[in-house]
This record gives sequence, C-alpha cells and structure tokens, in this order.
Amino acid sequence: MSRPLPPDHNARYGAAHRRLRGMWKHRIKQGGVTCWRCGEQLPADIPDSAWDLGHDDKDRSKYRGPEHSAGCNRSAAGKASALKRRGHLRPTPRHPGVLP
Ligand SMILES: [Zn+2]
Repeated sequence: MSRPLPPDHNARYGAAHRRLRGMWKHRIKQGGVTCWRCGEQLPADIPDSAWDLGHDDKDRSKYRGPEHSAGCNRSAAGKASALKRRGHLRPTPRHPGVLP
C-alpha cells in the first residue's frame, strides 16, 4: 500500500518553485539570461507565459534554469539566430583582384 504524499507537499514545492521563478524573472528583466536549452537570450520583456523554469531531463528534481515554454526547439532556434546574426553582417566586399 503506497503512502499518500504529505498534505503540504504541493504547497512546499509550489512555494519553492514560485520563489525560484521570481528570482529568475528578476534576472531576466535585467537582461542577459539565456534559455538553457537553446542558448538563445530571453528578452527582458518576455511575457511570463513564454518561458518556464526548466527541469533537468534526467533528474526532474533539479532545476536547470529558464527555458522557452511551448517546447524549445534547439535546432530551429539555433538556425533562426544564426540567420539573424548573419543578417547583421555586411556582405564581404569583393576583392577587386578576384575575377568571377
Ligand atoms: Zn530556448
């Protein structure tokens, strides 16, 4: 027969989670916080619903840090950011001595 969880289990977990999330929210607002899954920076004005406090995939009792909610797609996000970064670069001027 399995023992029921202590009645305050959810309340305790919830409080710790909320506290940690609040701490991260504060840090995100200051800027420079990245999603631990894809490494993309979380915008300082990101809505609460767009990020989650991520758990370690192997150990659900551990927090890894903020991550994009709605399932962070690492490869898609990486590609998008690479394209964005490339867009900021000026095209390499063609060397006058190089023939096409
Ligand atoms: Zn992400």
